[in-house]
Amino acid sequence: AIEHIEKSIIEKAFSKGWVKPEQILNRTGKKIAIVGSGPAGMAAADQLNKVGHSVTVFERAQSPGGLLRFGIPDFKLDKSVVERRIQLMEAEGVVFKCGVNVGVDVKADELRTEYDAVILAGGATTPRDVPIKGRDLNGIHFAMDFLSANSSKVQKLKLESHKGEKIESVWATDKDVVVIGGGDTGSDCVGTSNRHGAKSITQFEINLKPGPIRDLSNPWPEYPFILRTSTSHEEGCEREWSILTKEFVGDGKGNLQALKIVDIEWFTEKDGRKSFKEVENSERDVPCELALLAIGFVGPEQPILEQFGIETDVRSNAKANLKDFKTSVDGVFAAGDIRRGQSLVVWAISEGRECAASVDEFLMGETTLERKDASMLAI
Ligand SMILES: Cc1cc2nc3c(=O)[nH]c(=O)nc-3n(C[C@H](O)[C@H](O)[C@H](O)COP(=O)(O)OP(=O)(O)OC[C@H]3O[C@@H](n4cnc5c(N)ncnc54)[C@H](O)[C@@H]3O)c2cc1C
Repeated sequence: AIEHIEKSIIEKAFSKGWVKPEQILNRTGKKIAIVGSGPAGMAAADQLNKVGHSVTVFERAQSPGGLLRFGIPDFKLDKSVVERRIQLMEAEGVVFKCGVNVGVDVKADELRTEYDAVILAGGATTPRDVPIKGRDLNGIHFAMDFLSANSSKVQKLKLESHKGEKIESVWATDKDVVVIGGGDTGSDCVGTSNRHGAKSITQFEINLKPGPIRDLSNPWPEYPFILRTSTSHEEGCEREWSILTKEFVGDGKGNLQALKIVDIEWFTEKDGRKSFKEVENSERDVPCELALLAIGFVGPEQPILEQFGIETDVRSNAKANLKDFKTSVDGVFAAGDIRRGQSLVVWAISEGRECAASVDEFLMGETTLERKDASMLAI
């Protein structure tokens, strides 16, 4: 309900022409570099620009927006919403430099020397792979390559990945598609494959099928593990749980032809760990010409963190606490998925804004930017 109220307010404001670029009258003379133009980078840039700092956002992809533009499909988020916000920010003075891969085209040391502060907001899109027999066959793609190829095409952009790299056109039309991974990214692949006109779409999940309501072992406020059916699922696809993919089967000419799968049974080991075993005589081949790997992300890309010399946490994310977003390197901050791992847009925006307040305080000794704890106290 809150989501729809907020959307109605902002849509009305734009339609009435009430949302106009603000003129930033007093500039502080401080320069800030932000690496990554996803929701975390955009939110931080917007806040820091409004208090008078000169902000440059470096983005390796051809256009700004991060996963808002190249991950979340247009049928879930209309790209005009992203575009109008970027135009507004540019009109207010934020500079977006696209096609610049920090760490390669511009080195970490250059940014640290030329700017008073740096925010790393590069996301966490290193995909988890399925390293089984036949993985090198044609027709097996990471979900993000499929989704970003689709997004580029829908937005009439160059055919490039979310990383700004050239990719092949991955299309599901008339193909038997299998999405490996039962989460939200997998669901986006289902919706996109339906729009391409796939012959069949099947989504496999290794875990047990969740129930319709929370289990007693999963109380509030934990994330509820319940069965989720998205509009993409409702549009049409087969869903199966407790399935292990054992092999990608080729046609003898280097192309994917089928997946060898098996049913599994979950059980609890003596030490409490969850484990599974294969169900006897359940191994079978399912036809598949396009396999999309959507089994999650292992974390942020490490080379940029290494080049800046940033300490990482146990999950390989940039180590920075929620209080000040400072990394182990002086003057370098981290916000969004690069700090917390693959998450949600609301968290990325929230972290970007909180991080901006911390950067402002670091540069000016104090900040007038709103902070979550302060606003909570004001309620
Ligand atoms: C397929 C998919 C669907 C999703 N759907 C939803 C949804 O419906 N709702 C929701 O709330 N969340 C969703 N999410 C999660 C959400 O998109 C992310 O949590 C959010 O975008 C993270 O924001 P971010 O700014 O931290 O990083 P990102 O959005 O990942 O942006 C990081 C940016 O940094 C750039 N970058 C990285 N390294 C460099 C470098 N070295 N130099 C220059 N630029 C660099 C990247 O190219 C990218 O543009 C989805 C995620 C995926 C993958």
